[in-house]
Amino acid sequence: MFNKLLIANRGEICCRIIKTAQKMGIATVAVFSDADANALHVKMADEAVNIGPAPSRDSYLQAQRVIDVAIKVGADAIHPGYGFLSENAEFCRLCEQNNIVFVGPPVGAIEAMGSKSAAKQIMEKAGVPLVPGHHGEDQDPAILKKHADEMGYPVLLKAAAGGGGKGMRQVWSETEFQAALDAAKREALSSFNDDLMLVEKYLTQPRHVEIQVFCDNHGKGVFLFERDCSVQRRHQKVMEEAPAPGMTEALREQMGDAALKAAAAIGYSGAGTVEFLLDVDGSFYFMEMNTRLQVEHPVTEMISGQDLVEWQLRVASNEHLPKTQDQLSINGHAFEARVYAEDPDNDFLPATGTLHLLQPPIESQNVRVDTGVNQGDEVSVYYDPMIAKLIVWDESRDKALSRLAKALSEYHVEGVTTNIDFLYNLANCKPFRDAQLTTNFIEQHNESLFVENEQDLKSLLPVAALYLVLEKDKASTNTSQDAYSPWQLNNNWRANEQHAETVTISTKDAVFDLIVRQSGHGNNQTFSIESLGQKYSCQGELEGENLTVNIDGHRSRATVVKHDKGYSLFTSELAFKFNQIKPDFGLTDEDDHNAGFTAPMNGTVVALLVEPGQAVEKGQTLMIMEAMKMEHALTASSPGKVTEFFYQAGDLVDGGAELLEFEEDENT
Ligand code: ADP
Repeated sequence: MFNKLLIANRGEICCRIIKTAQKMGIATVAVFSDADANALHVKMADEAVNIGPAPSRDSYLQAQRVIDVAIKVGADAIHPGYGFLSENAEFCRLCEQNNIVFVGPPVGAIEAMGSKSAAKQIMEKAGVPLVPGHHGEDQDPAILKKHADEMGYPVLLKAAAGGGGKGMRQVWSETEFQAALDAAKREALSSFNDDLMLVEKYLTQPRHVEIQVFCDNHGKGVFLFERDCSVQRRHQKVMEEAPAPGMTEALREQMGDAALKAAAAIGYSGAGTVEFLLDVDGSFYFMEMNTRLQVEHPVTEMISGQDLVEWQLRVASNEHLPKTQDQLSINGHAFEARVYAEDPDNDFLPATGTLHLLQPPIESQNVRVDTGVNQGDEVSVYYDPMIAKLIVWDESRDKALSRLAKALSEYHVEGVTTNIDFLYNLANCKPFRDAQLTTNFIEQHNESLFVENEQDLKSLLPVAALYLVLEKDKASTNTSQDAYSPWQLNNNWRANEQHAETVTISTKDAVFDLIVRQSGHGNNQTFSIESLGQKYSCQGELEGENLTVNIDGHRSRATVVKHDKGYSLFTSELAFKFNQIKPDFGLTDEDDHNAGFTAPMNGTVVALLVEPGQAVEKGQTLMIMEAMKMEHALTASSPGKVTEFFYQAGDLVDGGAELLEFEEDENT
């Protein structure tokens, strides 16, 4: 076994590899860029060496520099993780030339799988089923089109050198072919400097099912079952599970055999993944082979009880495979949810920022969190915005899914926008619970994944309003000895009168005014909440983040996480992001309504809610501003109209700046 292992990577995968190396008594060396000087992977390793500036091409992708560090520190092996240099044949060759073991397959296997079209030719010879299509050298557009016409539309154009979904175009009819080919070639040329194209039959309802294979240097190979990675955005995985729902033993055997044939065809050694598309009729087709450890390998570890990094290290140091096929079995079900800094409401655009609060769920036998960041770290533009992988295990898919939802509701991140709410909705929605998996899952079930419809809002808004009033009540605690004394209350309590207050809640794209009336106090406190034209009778209890509500006789539990951009409410079915708009600087002084509307402090205009010239009621919200990370509503002091807004949404404004011109209704 090795004495010292250098990990040519960063983030969660570097940390995960270090853990296994430590368990095996192997010393570890990390490399880091200037941006990562204080990163978790640097702190966890026994030694760490700076290899250059923040951009990956100047640091983590500097193959020769990594080799130089390995020589200098006396590392006898390099683990490349995934991404970066992991599938770089040149780097693998450099390791060989310098007598350092590359923890991965031989150079030849990386090269063979480097081109999707060459890989398909090899697989065809080995008798592995392929997606019908053309993968030859002949790139004459007329020939490519002829293949597409013969195959029948839709087809998929794919860059042979492609990765990360780039250089891919769906073509739905003959007339679109040429334009799509031109676009895919342009993208492939600019991303990979290679515009060799494949034409494939586009499967409209496939699942992405991949097989984990492992081979040693003694001619033996096993497969560690499958993973279903169908839930993808932009052809990129976001939730994975093992085993694949609905998989029969016979199909598993067939796919496993095909994957091992693929590995054998290229003289494989180490961990590899053979990706297949599984069609509705049970046919499966080879897509590509990834010659490295996959991001989603933990779900396989959870159901097989094996440590795949340990297997990699043993195989790389010429040991035999730790288990035979007969000794491997599937136990239970596992999910991996990728927690990303990204905005699902904005086409999953990556987000950046400082992780002011990072509070993952507590780890246990059932819950595992693979992360590479600490609270206070920056999610920067330089690297992948994945914050962590949340992995759960249980005896059955249903139980594992419930665990996943619970763990997601306990995952608290502040400072960057994350996809946690989206993942929660995914884990809870019926189509996912029913395992109706296809690679178009997100597009097909948009309605269930994003709170958009009135039905969802009807059930969520009263809970949100109830939380806000209970939270306010909590903040104004009764300090007197007498729990029933009204004199110490600071919650708008009125004698002989039901107090009505308006709670204004903003969501992604709308603002709602809810009227809340309170009566009674202590255990008898009841709220009547008017929302979207309906009245609800509500009671609630708030203990920290845990909210118990009773709405029209229906008792349920929810969790509300308060963060710097508002609140995330997790009910048993849905996650919902909202914010409260405080009516704190609208003009309330009757005599002052022509004085102008000025910004109370530096901030940003969030939204203009009325049109210039439109008649408005007294108290109607005209504009929303964000300042000090809080939203503030600007309301009309009397009936009238806005004649002009001086700023647009997104504009920065200085404190004291005049925001709009208001003309009061002459009849008032
Ligand atoms: P990349 O290497 O760019 O990630 P892949 O070949 O691995 O590209 O494909 C990525 C995803 O694109 C797959 O997981 C699948 O969702 C979709 N895909 C690829 N080929 C096809 C096809 N022939 N028909 C339908 N979907 C496909």
